Amino acid sequence: MTPPAGAAAGTDPGTGPATATPAGSGRRLAGEAPTGGGVSPVVGAAGADAPGASSAGPAPQQWAAAVETLQGLPRDARVLLICHINPDGDALGSMLGFALGLRALGFTRVQATFPGPMELPEAYAAMPGRELLVPADEVFTDPELVCCFDAASVSRLGALADRLERAPSIVLDHHASNSGFGTVPLVIPGAAATSVVVEILLDRLGVPLDAAIAECLYIALVTDTGSFRFDSTTPAVHQLAARLLATGIAPAEISRRIFDTRPYGAVRLHAEVLSRTRLEPAAARGRGLVWTYATLDDLARHGQRPYVLESLIDPVRATAEADVSCVLKQALPGEWAVSLRSKGAVDVSRVAIALGGGGHRLAAGFTAYGTVDEVLARVRAALDQE
Ligand code: AMP
Ligand code: MN
Ligand code: MN
Repeated sequence: MTPPAGAAAGTDPGTGPATATPAGSGRRLAGEAPTGGGVSPVVGAAGADAPGASSAGPAPQQWAAAVETLQGLPRDARVLLICHINPDGDALGSMLGFALGLRALGFTRVQATFPGPMELPEAYAAMPGRELLVPADEVFTDPELVCCFDAASVSRLGALADRLERAPSIVLDHHASNSGFGTVPLVIPGAAATSVVVEILLDRLGVPLDAAIAECLYIALVTDTGSFRFDSTTPAVHQLAARLLATGIAPAEISRRIFDTRPYGAVRLHAEVLSRTRLEPAAARGRGLVWTYATLDDLARHGQRPYVLESLIDPVRATAEADVSCVLKQALPGEWAVSLRSKGAVDVSRVAIALGGGGHRLAAGFTAYGTVDEVLARVRAALDQE
């Protein structure tokens, strides 16, 4: 599992405007006492005041069911952790942070994986817990428990979706569009990152935060909040960040690794792809669309792997004249991974869902088939419906 060179981290403006958490709401509701030591996370019974949360999360019984499921499991049980395909910082950080937490609890057979080739973007190659990663085609076929991370639907688990039929599952996620799959869904819609959910569950399991777990959860949090720039960055998010930083992790070094390091070839590739960006001011009913695309040939010419394109949406969405931005990343001949972002006027999760994908109000995506022109025609038409 040698990661090829390249920076990966794009920002996922995630969850959009969240109801601001009142300062000083760092309390648990009655009956919600943490099972573990350490500083308590900020969460109410419904999870609605979890960092960045905007609506109700799991009921107390669901948290209890997750804790009981894990506590009732023999420590040598086969536990399989799965995050979404093309994992980002939140998917990997949440999964590996939880994996390390399970190891701290004494679980001896923990595997962490994601669909597709076990190829880690360079940005995440040094993440704590990476030694627990196992290629998708080598993981337990008969797990005794499955935990899923940052996946809004079963389809995001690719070929690993069949494991959900073979074992009980705990689903940790923060997508408003989450389909509710799994035996014990722990979804806090609007939470700033899936790592918010992970930290709450680890606390309830009595796992203290150490620097390795904290680094994973911090990477997840900075990725999905765009380094604390998005609306999901509530006071409770900063309180969580403070608890993570208090373990002694090095934020500057982490940020440089995650956001600000890429090979020369990727810099040149970005320049070329950005130079073909197009603005359509009249699209999206006059709110404006800006788009570009990158092909497999572009990647090959610059000797780069597909994940170096993940951060490309950020300079594109800077375009002042467009509310909606769109990047088509060729995955196979005739197949594209499409990223959509909004500045707020358009709910791009609705556009993505209409086109077979999903996501958040301000950051969404879908898989598309055809030529660039055909895919864009579909995007324009779906935007006109919004
Ligand atoms: P991305 O543009 O790949 O960074 O994805 C932005 C968000 O859109 C992610 O957080 C996912 O929630 C969602 N998303 C992206 N691609 C898909 C897809 N093919 N199906 C469902 N949701 C997706
Ligand atoms: Mn994600
Ligand atoms: Mn996420």
